Amino acid sequence: MRRSERYCLYALGAMYAGPIVAMVVWAWAAQAPRSIVALLLTAVLVAAVLAAATRTWRPFLLVQLPLSLLALGYAAYTVKFGLPPGHTLAGILVRTSWEEVRGFITLGPGKWLLVSLLSWAACYLALTLHAPKRPIFGDRANRWCRALILALVPVSAYTMLNPVQLIDGISFNPTVGSVMFLAGDIPRARAESRGSRVHKIPYQARRTGGEEVHILVVGESVRRASWSAYGYARTTTPFLNTFGDQVVFLQDAVADANLTEWAFPILLTGIAPQDLATSNVRGNLLDLAKEAGYRTAWLVNQDVEISTAVGIDADRLVSPLDFEANINGRHTLDEALLPAFREELARAGTARFVGVHMMGSHWEYYRRYPPKFQRFGSAQGLGALSMVSVLLDDKNTASAVVDSYDNTILYTDWFLQQLIEQARLLSVPATLTFFPDHGEDLQLLDGETGHGQPKYTQHAFEIPAFVWYNEAFRKAHPGIVAALTRNSSKEIRSHDVFYTMAELMGIEWPGRAASKSFASDRFVPDTVDPLVAGGILISAISERKPAM
Ligand SMILES: [Zn+2]
Repeated sequence: MRRSERYCLYALGAMYAGPIVAMVVWAWAAQAPRSIVALLLTAVLVAAVLAAATRTWRPFLLVQLPLSLLALGYAAYTVKFGLPPGHTLAGILVRTSWEEVRGFITLGPGKWLLVSLLSWAACYLALTLHAPKRPIFGDRANRWCRALILALVPVSAYTMLNPVQLIDGISFNPTVGSVMFLAGDIPRARAESRGSRVHKIPYQARRTGGEEVHILVVGESVRRASWSAYGYARTTTPFLNTFGDQVVFLQDAVADANLTEWAFPILLTGIAPQDLATSNVRGNLLDLAKEAGYRTAWLVNQDVEISTAVGIDADRLVSPLDFEANINGRHTLDEALLPAFREELARAGTARFVGVHMMGSHWEYYRRYPPKFQRFGSAQGLGALSMVSVLLDDKNTASAVVDSYDNTILYTDWFLQQLIEQARLLSVPATLTFFPDHGEDLQLLDGETGHGQPKYTQHAFEIPAFVWYNEAFRKAHPGIVAALTRNSSKEIRSHDVFYTMAELMGIEWPGRAASKSFASDRFVPDTVDPLVAGGILISAISERKPAM
């Protein structure tokens, strides 16, 4: 072998080994020694199998190129995020549209990532073309191979003593791990994102009529009493305060549940609280809209699994990447949804339903808005544990928590303004309905904190809600606007939203119930069905209207 060819093979060997070494260094700190040995053993075996299959150096190295690229990505992700690619990354990838991928690659860090990968691949390819053509296994190599296989026997026996550590080690091999990720995690996440866990039964919905646009915005942890549009002393909703007559504010909207995991499916399916079970979910508002001929888009700045759990399968699902999400939710601001929202509204020529699921006012409040919305108080000194000090009767923190909560409302008001002003540009009939999943208790004002307690607390259930419509909608459907106005002071519950949205969208189907649509003359307020407090059914009658 010529000297240049030998150097070529050394360089390629180093490129091949790089991701493996990175994985070993990463695994060194926290993984069992047996897993690390299994990782190395797998690397040797994968190389040996490929060498046996390709026989000569150049094809062997060419086959390695895509595998090495995958391995490089796998190791880089593991080192950066401290965990190999798995369910979370798969979920993010399958829900990311090509438009977002294109945006990531053409802007910012994605561009440099792509340039580095391409340079790496070009380098590898150039070296491969200088590699020897001769067989990998000459006489000497064969002898080495036999010796190696003999040496591997006790090592294999050692790793097999603990099957869990063995499997971990194999999956930490960057080549095998990335193939397992592509062949296992990705298809599973795709199945989940299509809502395949829900057994769907068609609604047999239909609709006549032309192009209309209907928007549902699901808010998060929105306390009605904190909106100046409902009389709060601080001006937290400056835009909504000056709305004029193209909007109907619901005066007595009540969340069916004080937890997202319960309230959200009820909103999207119309199932009453006492009947909510996965086996009773036959589909959701988006399925109904699709059957009736709507194009559907679902823009999520929440944990997207809340949506996929009720089988949301939109024509376009947007869930911005967020690697910083923690137990208190995502750190991406709701405005990340605005570009996709604008695109969906601009998609003229077909009836459209656009859903928006906000991060809204979920705790850590001070993380939900950009610095320019820090109008009330100061968020300095607030941290993830401030909720605990609030419970310990720390008045200063309790007051700062209320301030930061009010800033989330200010930001929500601005966010809703962006949506409505975009919708105002439409000439076809259009509506926007805002309905949060549930409210929120603030220790300083309510003597309670947060939401999701297993008991009724007024502000975790009483929410603000409204329906905005444009002039074209009012002209086309004066009866609906009149009914909305007439029903606006009645008690309206989360499970009415499904039927009302369907009514706004002009959808007919055998299960339609006008009595549950507050956009209908025949609406009957539901004050009887129970509420869900922290997962427990409680009586709406005795809790909301205590005996005098
Ligand atoms: Zn929630």
